[in-house]
Order: sequence, then structure tokens, then C-alpha cells
Amino acid sequence: MDRKFIEKLGVSLPRLGYGCMRLPEKEGTIDFEYAKKLIHHAYNQGVNYFDTAYNYHGGESETFLGQVLKDFDRESYFLTSKLPVWKVKEEKDAEKLFNEQLQKCNTEYFDFYLLHSLNKRSIETVEKFNLYDFIAKKKAEGKIKHIGFSFHDNNDVLKKFAAAHEWDFIQLQINYWDWEVDDAKSLYETLEKLNIPCFVMEPVRGGFLASFAPHAMKRFKDHNPNASIASWALRWVGSLPNVALILSGMSDMDQLKDNIETFTNLKTINPDEQKIIHQVVEDLKKINPVPCTSCRYCMDCEFGVNIPKVFEIYNDYKKSENKAIANRSYFTFMKEEQQGGNCQQCGVCIPKCPQHINIPEELGKIHEEMLSIRSN
Ligand code: SF4
Ligand code: SF4
Repeated sequence: MDRKFIEKLGVSLPRLGYGCMRLPEKEGTIDFEYAKKLIHHAYNQGVNYFDTAYNYHGGESETFLGQVLKDFDRESYFLTSKLPVWKVKEEKDAEKLFNEQLQKCNTEYFDFYLLHSLNKRSIETVEKFNLYDFIAKKKAEGKIKHIGFSFHDNNDVLKKFAAAHEWDFIQLQINYWDWEVDDAKSLYETLEKLNIPCFVMEPVRGGFLASFAPHAMKRFKDHNPNASIASWALRWVGSLPNVALILSGMSDMDQLKDNIETFTNLKTINPDEQKIIHQVVEDLKKINPVPCTSCRYCMDCEFGVNIPKVFEIYNDYKKSENKAIANRSYFTFMKEEQQGGNCQQCGVCIPKCPQHINIPEELGKIHEEMLSIRSN
């Protein structure tokens, strides 16, 4: 595993960090034995950075890591968690949540700790309840080594908030799709200017850049038949100079091994490959996907709509144009209450989505389209 020494932080980080948001599941809960095997394999291969959060896997991810990481010397790995800012309703909640997280993770301290999923609205909560002061105090007490935040909003908001306090690092959603189609480039450049190390989340955009339409994948396969589609996305982001660490939420051993291989003697993207990536983005734009990363922050919908699943089925259909599979996945494998047609337009999920998707509107359109291709 390649490593990078981050001068500002005085630590050597693996290029690949293990995101614990998409661990394998069995019967609706983390598949403990298999997930443990993945964590052990990662650790043994030098992937010793583990990223979790209060809400991952409905709260189980922190507890899982707390149980699994106790097999290793605490000084031999980096553990990261995040303050669920949306759960802070008064100032003292932060202390309560933080202590609960330490306990669940079975640790005395976090190596890295973030204010989770900030945007213009949640930054108001941060300022109102002095949450920056809270994490800075924890850092001074030695309970956090490095402080940062993860972010989902525009560059003006980022510039202002990044400059308002002292940050050790900031976590951004960077991948070649968001670079060309959204404003990932300007967000990245802001951190570069401020000399703040950039930690990357969603390098493969929740799996969207791991597999897509055969004609688009062919461009990659023609150039290098042996490279996985995901490895292009990871190499692309790993080629950016101010990227300190790249998180990937790995759900199975094949993904994990492939990602480790990518970040062992990493081959940076050359100009010819950059052109191919640009052509692939042009191909993908025609698919016009719903930009859902399956993060599940919008869940649970109190009416039972399975929002990320609807978007996943729709995006898969757009990529493959396979009506039979779309029909089966949507109408046979999903209950009626889980489908887009059951959305009651209450709007509760909209502000929870870091990708700013107008969820009820998209669900309505998708349901109409699914009905139009329904086989009898
Ligand atoms: S807008 Fe629709 S999907 Fe969102 S929470 Fe309300 S009913 Fe559920
Ligand atoms: S709709 Fe938004 S919040 Fe819900 S899973 Fe997708 S990206 Fe996450």
C-alpha cells in the first residue's frame, strides 16, 4: 500500500482509507464475520485508516469497528468518526454524542474527527452551538488529534467556512464526474489555496463510476483490458497533488483487493487517459442519472419508500437499458409501498440529501417512467 506523508499533520497516511458506510450486510445488519475478515485483510495490507460515523449502518458501524479494531494495537491505526451535527439541539448534546461515540468505538481518542456533512444550513447549527469550539477543546484535551469537516455545498460557502476557523483537513466529494459536471474542481482548488489537506469521499460516486453502459466501459477496456472500471476513478483522484487520502466504502473482498492493487505503486493518469475519461464523462452525461450516492441520509422515509433503491434501479436501467431487469427489480422485488409511487410529497427527506436531489420530484418522474415500461 502506497503511503503519503502529510507535512501539515505530521503523519504518514495510506493512500486508501476504509470507509465503513457500506460494509457487507446479512439480514439487514452488518455481516459481522465477513466484514471483520475485510477489516483484517485491509489492515494486514497496510490500509490502517478506518472512517466511520454516528449514523452509518443505523449506528452499528461504530460499534462494529469498536469490536473489531480491539484486535490491533491502538497506536497502529487511525480511527475517524464524525459529529452528527443534525442531532445537536442544544450545546450540551455535543458532549453526550461524543462520549457515546468514544464508548461505542471502544477508544480513548479519535485520530481524526469531523463535523459531519456540513452545508449552509448546518453551519448555522455549528455556529449557534459553538461546535467548532467544542471539537477544538477536545483536541486540546487529547481526545481528538486532528479536526476537520465533511462538506456538501457550493464553493462560496466552503471558502467562508474554511477560512473562519483553523482546520487540519477537510473532506470533499471529488471524482472525475463531479469535477466536470459539478463544482468539485473549484472546491478542491479552494483547499489548495488555503493549504488544507483534502480527504476524498465518494471517489467512485457511490458505485456509479464502477460500472456503466457497455459502450462507455469499452473505452476503458480497449485501453487497458485488465483494469477495473473503478480503478480509473481511483487513479484519477489519486493523481491530484493536494489529495491526502482517498476513502472507499468497500463491501466485498474483490473490491478491497482491486483497490489495494490500484494504490500499490499507483500509476497516475497520463494525458491520453485523461482524454478517455473526458469522453466517458460525455457518454455518461447522456444517461442523465439521478446523482444519488446511496448514502441513505434521507432514510427512513416514514411512509416506507426505499429512496436509494428506487434511484439505484433507475440508474442501472438508464445504464443498461434492460427493461426486463428494471421491471423485475422495481415491480417484483420491491413492495408497492417502497416504490416511488408511494411518495406522499411530505418533503421531509429533501434537506437531508447532501446531493441536493429533489427527491419527491425525481421519485414521481421515475415511477411514471417505470409504469411506462411495465411488462404485463
Ligand atoms: S417526500 Fe416522499 S420519499 Fe421523501 S420522506 Fe416524504 S414521502 Fe418519503
Ligand atoms: S437520495 Fe440523497 S440522501 Fe438519499 S441516499 Fe441518495 S444521495 Fe443519499
